[in-house]
Amino acid sequence: MTILPKNSTIPTHLWQKDLQSAFRKAEDLLDFLQLKAIDCPYSLALEHPFPFLVTPYFASQMRADWFDPLLLQVLPRSPETHIVEGFLADAVGDLAAQKAPGLLHKYASRVLLLSSVQCAIHCRYCFRREFPYGELPKTKISWEAAFDYIEAHPQVNEVILSGGDPLFADNQRLGQLIDRLRENKQIETLRIHTRLPIVLPSRIDEGLLQLLEKFTEQKSCIMVVHSNHAQELGIECATACKKLRHAGVTLLNQSVLLRHINDTVSVLNKLSQRLLQIGVMPYYLHQLDKVNGTAHFEVPVETGKKLMEELRLLSPGYGVPRYVQEIQGEGSKTPL
Ligand SMILES: *Cc1c(COP(=O)(O)O)cnc(C)c1O
Ligand code: SF4
Repeated sequence: MTILPKNSTIPTHLWQKDLQSAFRKAEDLLDFLQLKAIDCPYSLALEHPFPFLVTPYFASQMRADWFDPLLLQVLPRSPETHIVEGFLADAVGDLAAQKAPGLLHKYASRVLLLSSVQCAIHCRYCFRREFPYGELPKTKISWEAAFDYIEAHPQVNEVILSGGDPLFADNQRLGQLIDRLRENKQIETLRIHTRLPIVLPSRIDEGLLQLLEKFTEQKSCIMVVHSNHAQELGIECATACKKLRHAGVTLLNQSVLLRHINDTVSVLNKLSQRLLQIGVMPYYLHQLDKVNGTAHFEVPVETGKKLMEELRLLSPGYGVPRYVQEIQGEGSKTPL
């Protein structure tokens, strides 16, 4: 990653350039890794309707191995096309929780705004891969209904920006929303759920840091990043996390427990160690949400519980994430 001087004239767009050079075809990523599709030991689904998308940075952290834990997260494999009983389009009841355009309200004190419909990477196990984002509010004006809803619900004191990836919006658009949250008396905490510090660290640019710093001078800002394996957390990512912490942001991580990717205690322990090294606290380890096309990523809950028991023996308490599941209709995530 190039670090631009503070007064450079092009800083806010560097990440957009990085994004332009993202891999949009699995074949191109395989070429980059010098892997030949005919040698693939499992069967691929290269024409799957959930489009392929991988940032150059995430690709640069991969090894040329068909079982690379990063590659397995993004490569469309044939089981994605299988219909599996119990796996649904909307496994977590997000549609029913939509209370205003782009606003989900499931848990009393916090609402979630789907503030961007796009991501910089398409994770094949994604629980929102089938969410009908449709026409979500795109400008400051169209968040009116969401703010009206918040004001009508005084128990809400935290707004979570989610998506898609909320940092996909540029600093100007994001700034309008963040400033408005900063000025709102009811809101005490801003939370940002994003994978960009991991997959597109150049997104953590000066403009964004200034925005967040201005916010943290008055209120608290928590960023929940999403990483599943220590191999994702390279130097550029560590630098981005350090800058965020300097801006007063508290950093947490959520992972999804994924078959053949992070379903051993050694991998989970290394992930926690690396997160702590770069100043990110392990927060959640999610049981996979049963969304269509993701059954091949599932790890049985019993296995997950055993892994957690073993992890507790290896790691300090603060290195152990909470193993949780989202159950429709519950007032919080459910501990396993
Ligand atoms: C997971 C989730 C949250 C955040 O829950 P925490 O336990 O506070 O991290 C908030 N709203 C929705 C709709 C969620 O799915
Ligand atoms: S970054 Fe998050 S929302 Fe986007 S595809 Fe991956 S898991 Fe889904």
